[in-house]
Amino acid sequence: MKKIPQTPFDVNQIRRDFPILSKKINGKPLIYFDNAATTQKSEKVIDAVCQYYKYDNANIHRGVHTLSETATAIYEKTREKVKTFLNAKESDEIIYVRGTTEAINLVANSYGRQFLEEGDEIILSEMEHHSNIVPWQQLCDEKKLKLRVIPINDKGELLLDEFEKLICPRTKFISIVYISNSLGTINPIKQIIHKAHEHEIPVLVDGAQSTSHMMVDVQDLDCDFYTISGHKLYGPTGIGVLYGKKHLLEKMPPYQGGGDMIRSVSFKKTTYNVLPNKFEAGTPNIAGVVGLGAAVDYINTIGLDVIAHYEHDLFKYATNTLSNIDGLKIIGTAADKTAVISFLCGDIHPHDIGTILDHNGIAIRAGHHCTQPLMERLGLTATARVSLAFYNTKSEIDYFAESIPNLFRIFS
Ligand code: PLP
Repeated sequence: MKKIPQTPFDVNQIRRDFPILSKKINGKPLIYFDNAATTQKSEKVIDAVCQYYKYDNANIHRGVHTLSETATAIYEKTREKVKTFLNAKESDEIIYVRGTTEAINLVANSYGRQFLEEGDEIILSEMEHHSNIVPWQQLCDEKKLKLRVIPINDKGELLLDEFEKLICPRTKFISIVYISNSLGTINPIKQIIHKAHEHEIPVLVDGAQSTSHMMVDVQDLDCDFYTISGHKLYGPTGIGVLYGKKHLLEKMPPYQGGGDMIRSVSFKKTTYNVLPNKFEAGTPNIAGVVGLGAAVDYINTIGLDVIAHYEHDLFKYATNTLSNIDGLKIIGTAADKTAVISFLCGDIHPHDIGTILDHNGIAIRAGHHCTQPLMERLGLTATARVSLAFYNTKSEIDYFAESIPNLFRIFS
């Protein structure tokens, strides 16, 4: 992969790139620990979107005028950038969608409806986000398929032996998360894909959390599909990417019908466009694509290897600090983890933890994190969750830790 020149990592300098990080919440400096839900946007991303609307706004593809050609060029150039970012073979393998949810729905509705038949089985895991469960359940209901679920151990790690036992001649698809948004577990995705391919089973990787924390090379992983949510990658909401191997995308029917995805339309017969347009019906989120491109550029100037290194150090520091707080219990202790720490404080409800911490300017998430089956497996209804990004600091973690004893005092 082409190496992009990087500036040395200076977290204070980086923080200045994100306007929201200088905001005060309830009179206290914002400590943003809700990055697994969505990440903050750098000035570069905000400016790129503003710049587009101020000076370049036009609809893409269909225009013959200069503005439309400019907008189309930016839109397609970003596809190239994402292709390089993921090390995909071709830019046609990059499909713009709204985010991971839409990407999975696209694959379930297009690939799943076309190629899966009654009695076939789909393997997921116990730690999936609802968006990697519900589309498959809907497909199962419609086509009389079966869902099989890889169990986890109490640490929050997949039981790979059990996974292998689930594979059978009826297994026709595997859809699995790379990094759990609730536990931070990093799944051995390459190993899973390798095993699946021994049985010629295609694998979709839910990359909603992983793409911002580690370098992802879809050719090296050899995944068949990979999903990105732009807003979790420091880009705008409402834009994401489905990567798919070309030979699979080519044989899949369109997901939605409308403008841009057709070659010709008549009342007798409609023929469809080639990739990637076949899957991009209607006017897309052009400004979102512009912002995503700016986010990728921004990340590249720092370097995902540098980000991963900094975040790993920060994560270890946070885990040690939280482990030493009396009464605080970390949920999810997998050997391979990053960025996400779910926890409980005695029997204080996670929503109360979140509300009290907010008084101190600390934004965390509380709830089931759209992983209700995982919560059920763990015998919980909710956790509180700290999720880190490369603009967070050790002093923020210290301040967070100092706020916890007060929480216990309030609820004692
Ligand atoms: N998968 C995982 C692991 C997630 O964490 C999320 C969002 O939190 C999703 C899927 C859904 O992503 P989006 O809401 O961006 O479509």
